[in-house]
Amino acid sequence: MPEKGWKTITIREEVLDQIQNYMQEEAEALEALGIKNIGELVSTAVSEYTKKKPPKPRLQHFNVNEDHITVIDNELGGRLIDVYIRERRLWCDSCRRDDCIHVGYAWSIDDVKRTLRR
Ligand SMILES: [Zn+2]
Repeated sequence: MPEKGWKTITIREEVLDQIQNYMQEEAEALEALGIKNIGELVSTAVSEYTKKKPPKPRLQHFNVNEDHITVIDNELGGRLIDVYIRERRLWCDSCRRDDCIHVGYAWSIDDVKRTLRR
């Protein structure tokens, strides 16, 4: 059992060999980065890798109901914004207007276009 605050993982021998070879070959560069062991290398590699993940789009389509569309606004911490369909027009319940970014986004959703054209 590892010490408190630590976990043991199992990886393929080839992967361990690969890591150890890399650490030997790049010993100087890793030392300059303050990376002294496999745990620190993995931690640094993972944080570099996750930085490259594409950012979430500002708005995401959540669902389309009969009378409203729900949009996720990631700039507002993933808040759900309802855009209402009223007499073939769209109205944002959050901004209280018909020309905000949420309404513009709702117009771009195929299902909404289809519903409003009917
Ligand atoms: Zn809005």
